[in-house]
Amino acid sequence: MQQVWTLRSILQWTSEYFSKKGIDSHRLDAELLIAHAVGLDRIGLYRDFDRPVNESERALIRSYVQRRAQFEPVAHILNSRGFWQHDFYVDNRVLIPRPETEELIEYVLKWLKDHIDPRIADVGTGSGCIALTLADECKTAECIGFDVSEEALEVAQKNAQLLNIKSDFVKSDLLEKAEGLFDVIISNPPYIASDVIPTLMPDVQQYEPLLALDGGPDGLDCIRKLVPQAIDHLKPGGLLIFEIGYDQGPSASEICLNYKELKEVEIHKDYAKQDRFITAIRTDA
Ligand code: GLN
Repeated sequence: MQQVWTLRSILQWTSEYFSKKGIDSHRLDAELLIAHAVGLDRIGLYRDFDRPVNESERALIRSYVQRRAQFEPVAHILNSRGFWQHDFYVDNRVLIPRPETEELIEYVLKWLKDHIDPRIADVGTGSGCIALTLADECKTAECIGFDVSEEALEVAQKNAQLLNIKSDFVKSDLLEKAEGLFDVIISNPPYIASDVIPTLMPDVQQYEPLLALDGGPDGLDCIRKLVPQAIDHLKPGGLLIFEIGYDQGPSASEICLNYKELKEVEIHKDYAKQDRFITAIRTDA
């Protein structure tokens, strides 16, 4: 007798298959892909565990499974990644938003509490997840996302439209094309050292844009360029905040400490207790 596939059995099979392929998040990935293919959310999947899966759904699941088995990220297969309150459109033109970056958002929102009509620059906006989240959370803010990649800006614009959030996007190498002064300059720059890139998971290495990852020999090239530009574009008392790698706290804060225009330079840890971002305040001088 031919086997009848149910959501339960196909989930079980897919999860084991991913596990054998060396995918750490095998169960979660199987759930996300299968739920999407049959038009349910993850809770629905468990509620309808014994529901049979028809042939056309199985064909779609099969194509998703094959792609994931080649290490294509789930976010690319589904063209979607949740960040803060929204699902962002993503594809291989941009970095996939990471949950760690939400910790910078949290910091900025707290910091902005007493500011009226702030101007915010998001440098290397990629999918636009930072600029759009801040614009959405802080309705009086003027947010501008900068990116050197035309392709990334297309994705950011698409997200602004899909989510119906207003933010401007400008093609610019870091802040080169920025005009005027900002209350907040935020960035998740490429900060991975070039020789570490070949050791990254194939999901990242083969599918995410090198431009969004590669920070030069020690990973700090962009940060070294960004800091003096940010000094020129921050209001006195304005906040510079940027993401770093787990081992870059001392070296990245050192770069800031070299400028007398910056004070209160601090290294912040993420929820996993790793160095994750730097903050500094523009002096009045
Ligand atoms: N700002 C985007 C993000 O945080 C892209 C960052 C990047 O491309 N390095 O996801």
